[in-house]
Amino acid sequence: MTPRQNAPRRLMRELHEIMASADKAEVRLNRVVHLVASNMVVEVCSAYFIRGGDVLELFATEGLKLEAVHNTRLQVGEGLVGLVASTGASLNLSNAQEHPKFVYRPETGEESYKSMMAVPILRTGKVVGVLVVQNQASRHYLEEEEEALQTVAMVLAELVVSGDLITTQEHSDGDIDRGAVIRFVGTVFAEGLAEGVAVMHEPRVEIIQHLSEDYDYQLERLGKAFEKLLVQIDEIMSAEDILHHGEHREILDVYKLFALDKGWRVKIESAIETGLTAEAAVQKIQIENRSKMIKTEDPYFKERLSDLDDLANRLIRHLMGKSGTAASKELPQNAVVIARNMGPAELLEYDREKLKAVVLQEGSQTSHVSIVARALGIPMIGQLEAGLLDIDDGVQIIVHGLDGEVYIAPPPEILETYRDAIASREKMLARYDGMIDKPAITKDHVKIELVVNGGLAMDIEGMHRTGASGVGLFRTEFQFMISKTLPRVRPQVKFYKSIIDAASEKPVTFRTLDIGGDKEVSFLKRDSEENPAIGWRAIRIGLDRPGLLRYQLRALITAAAGMTLSVMFPMITTVDEFMRAKGILEKELNRHQRNNRPMPIDIKVGTMLEVPSLVWQLDELLPLVDFISVGSNDLMQFFYASDRENPKLNNRYDTLSPPSLKMLRFIVNKCSEKNVPLTLCGEIAGSTIGALALLAIGFRRLSIAPAAIGPVKMMIRSLNLGDTERFGNELLSLSNQSIRSNFEAFARENDVII
Ligand code: PEP
Ligand code: MG
Repeated sequence: MTPRQNAPRRLMRELHEIMASADKAEVRLNRVVHLVASNMVVEVCSAYFIRGGDVLELFATEGLKLEAVHNTRLQVGEGLVGLVASTGASLNLSNAQEHPKFVYRPETGEESYKSMMAVPILRTGKVVGVLVVQNQASRHYLEEEEEALQTVAMVLAELVVSGDLITTQEHSDGDIDRGAVIRFVGTVFAEGLAEGVAVMHEPRVEIIQHLSEDYDYQLERLGKAFEKLLVQIDEIMSAEDILHHGEHREILDVYKLFALDKGWRVKIESAIETGLTAEAAVQKIQIENRSKMIKTEDPYFKERLSDLDDLANRLIRHLMGKSGTAASKELPQNAVVIARNMGPAELLEYDREKLKAVVLQEGSQTSHVSIVARALGIPMIGQLEAGLLDIDDGVQIIVHGLDGEVYIAPPPEILETYRDAIASREKMLARYDGMIDKPAITKDHVKIELVVNGGLAMDIEGMHRTGASGVGLFRTEFQFMISKTLPRVRPQVKFYKSIIDAASEKPVTFRTLDIGGDKEVSFLKRDSEENPAIGWRAIRIGLDRPGLLRYQLRALITAAAGMTLSVMFPMITTVDEFMRAKGILEKELNRHQRNNRPMPIDIKVGTMLEVPSLVWQLDELLPLVDFISVGSNDLMQFFYASDRENPKLNNRYDTLSPPSLKMLRFIVNKCSEKNVPLTLCGEIAGSTIGALALLAIGFRRLSIAPAAIGPVKMMIRSLNLGDTERFGNELLSLSNQSIRSNFEAFARENDVII
């Protein structure tokens, strides 16, 4: 051991003794300030804690006048102690009185002390107090001294955790009161309004024990936690989920670099050797990193701070055996889950009765987690500015998933506005309900067919509730995503049959497994790919692993006995791929017949059209298919070479633009020449303005989320299609990057309800 570690160890040992003693919290606190004063050779050591929201109260001192204890109070933000509390950054000043924030409190008698060092006392990343040392002489405290004081401050947080010093109630009340109303603005991924309490998807955990003298044991625990952390990061990086892309990838690269950084680990190990538990050592180093990074002017480092916090938090959670997400915990009745990002399978793990909304710092509108949220009717807002992940678990939160606003700890006036919004939304929903039995027919009598996209049993209920005429796209992969093991044929049959039965005679088009890209299944481990969206996914997996596809088709054939089976394949890129997939289906049908099993009365085989190459094979393809369904989410990401998961590219290219609409019109014309039924099932059709543009270029069947049926039907019933077609087709010769606003203006001028 280096001599440098001797002194901290001594301090830690004595600190350990004090904290482990049976003394009352206040007595232990007094002993700690005394210990610090003598051990660090300072004349004053004082501890302040935050009470009732935003007041810092002096709780113990060695060196200042004792009558100041419980009498000296400062607002958070007031004076130097208040400054540390409001910024969370420590101060090290050789002449404190020269600092513009210095305020003098006569009752303390601190006028004679020139130098001062103050560090925040943090509990799960939040400031709960400030620990201060002072000296008469002007001096600059050494880095080691600052680190030692930070360690003591960290251990003192235990007194708050235990609730002995200040009731935990007072603290959590304080947390809520302290923050002014916080408002975040983001993008609506799934519409709806919700009021509830914040639940962190990846919870911060509270360290209960900070001190340990069993160094070897703590080092061993740390080693194991590091192993788990690296496995976890590798898993995330190699998984085909949303974290693989663009910005997320950058973050993970930083994670990995940091996790592999020997310097970081050595620092944690040294902290353990001073007498800290492994989790406290991780926290201590993170507090140090934090206090250095807060002071830096470099915006890159500032941005990275929350990533590094995240990583330390992950390591602590591994150490404390709490690495799962909040989905595995008991949720409050009205949970609003907050996350940096999450995959669709993670969302499906939540108890849907209790999950009221989701707020993501990142995410994108066409990512599958958003699609699942829409399917579940759970409001979701994403792409919020930084700071979201710093809010407290348990604070009240309003999610205005119409305007894209999120309010933390809303005051009564905001609550009132929000409740008004609920009331007017209910009125609107009632108007949609009133249209259930009315046809989706334009003012000039053109019938449009509206069907729903689904993937969960509840979507069928959505189809009935909204009066849609069938299911245009049933995403079978959702069932696979929530299963830990490969679903066997029998449970698949049972599930598909339940869907067909629930649809009661209305047609359901099943799409075979579309996994890969951002849709991960736990039973199929795959190599990491540079570009998973254009990688080994969907039918490519189906053709390379025909067993998977065969079993699924077998289950679909069995489930559709005596009915019409309508099935299509995802991501078909060439005619040959379609023929091979159809060949597998035919083999299964023959097998079924040979075995004298009850057969479907009719089979319709189609394909998704979501890869641009297929547009140029329509002449060859159309004679072979019974129907086509355009998957515009993928088609547009490939058309514009613009990753649908990358938030930076989200609004860069607009589907409502001449080139994309020209391509879609080309598809419409080809299909109508050959009399092949055509549907569009991408997210664009679910927005009223998107649907309007699609009708203008000739689409007559749209497959959309159940929640979109009402608004789209209302738009259709207010539309004169002849005028719209003339207007829309003229727009296609423009060279504009987007013609969305032209369609919006048209709708306004012609009283089309969008
Ligand atoms: C699409 O790509 O438009 C589509 C409907 O399929 P998914 O969103 O499931 O990829
Ligand atoms: Mg797709």
